[in-house]
Order: sequence, then C-alpha cells, then structure tokens
Amino acid sequence: MMLFFMILIGVSVGSFLNVLIHRLPNKQSIIFPSSYCPHCKEKIPWYYNIPIVSFLILKGLSNCCNKSISIRYLFVEIISMVLWIWTYYYIPNIDDKILFLIFSSSLLVIMITDYNHFYIPFELNILMFISALTFFIYNDHNLWNHFLPMLLLLAYFIVLTLLTTIVLKRDSMGYGDIILIGIIGFWLGLFLTLIIIVFASLLSLIHWLFLKAIKKEESIVLPFGSTLAMSAILVDMTAKILQFDTSFLLIW
Ligand SMILES: [Zn+2]
Repeated sequence: MMLFFMILIGVSVGSFLNVLIHRLPNKQSIIFPSSYCPHCKEKIPWYYNIPIVSFLILKGLSNCCNKSISIRYLFVEIISMVLWIWTYYYIPNIDDKILFLIFSSSLLVIMITDYNHFYIPFELNILMFISALTFFIYNDHNLWNHFLPMLLLLAYFIVLTLLTTIVLKRDSMGYGDIILIGIIGFWLGLFLTLIIIVFASLLSLIHWLFLKAIKKEESIVLPFGSTLAMSAILVDMTAKILQFDTSFLLIW
C-alpha cells in the first residue's frame, strides 16, 4: 500500500517537475496557466495529463495537434518515481527523506534545463540552500562545517574561472555551475563534493568524446551543470547505501 502511495506521489511530483523544466527557463509562472500543449498551446484536459499513463496511451503524441511529445516527460516522471520509492526504502529518518527529495528533485530539473538551454534556475539554488540551512539548524549541525566547504569551493572555482578567462581568453565554467558546486558543497561537505566534481568531469569527457565523434565540430559547449547534477544524485545515493559517514571528513 505504502509502495503504491510512493509511486503515485513520485509520478505526480515528476509531472510538476516537467512543468518547471518547461517554464523556468522561459521565466513563465509555474502555477498559471494549467498544463498546455508545448506545440499548439491548447489546454490539456486532465484525463490526457495523467503521468506516464497518458504518454503511453497517446503513444507519445499530443492529442490536440498530434505532434510528438518529448520522451523527456516520461523520463522525468519515471526518475522521480524511482527517487521516491528509493527514498522510502533507503532513508530511515523523515527529515533526511525530505531534504534528499528536495535536492534530488531540484537537481533532476537542473540536469534537464542545463542540458537543453545551458540554464540553471536560480530559484532552485535558493530553494536547495534554504532547505539545507533550515535542516542543519533544526538538526543542530555545526554550520561552519557546511559554510566552510561552500566558501572554499566557491573561492577556488571563481579564481580558476577568472584565470582561464584572463590567461587563456576563453570561458571555462559558467557562474551557474560554480554556484551549484557551492550549494552541493554546503549540502554534502568537501569530500563528497570533490568526488562529485571528478565523476562529473569524467561524464563530461565521455560526452565530449561522443559529440566529437559524431559532429566533428570545433567548438563544443558542454552542459557541465547537467553532469554535476546527475553525479550529485548518484554519489549521494551511493554514500547513503554504503552508510558512508563523511562527517569525520569535514574540515574540523
Ligand atoms: Zn497541441
């Protein structure tokens, strides 16, 4: 019964995340209007707006104008469902469950918006930061253990980016990516964040090799925020499965 409930909430939240993914980069309201077709802007009746089910029944085509609906909608709903089920089984504490779901859902949105538009919604960075701060104060964490990794990472990457811009005269990392790294550092501490950055760089390298092989273009811009977001979710889940206690690795 509980599993069924988790599936239901997971796909519904996933459906809302799809709205965020579509509207945040365009600076549209996330509440009004209600769901509409991305092609012809026709309002979607509720019975064609049931997560996963509608997509499968309509075979990935919109009912109004019969154009194909991105597989992304299905993907996000399924990933969101998996995150809720996973959280239910693997995270015992309710506070930890809430914090993980806020972070993983926001990161899922960032993963797609950065991939599609090189855009990391600032609202989501703020949401993650405030949630983590509230959680840490409420659970009596030493805030310094969270602010210090964040400040170190921000300082390091800002200097690095300024240097590459000045010396190599090219852009390396966007400020959205740097803020995201800072927030992840605030959330998980220095050690896990460094693992996340290494893992994200590896994913980006694979992505780059892949694009190089098929496109043969000179300049390839990679959505580093996407790989960062994906690595952050995966690394944190792995750390939680392994019950890996990183608190001793926080600076002091
Ligand atoms: Zn349509």
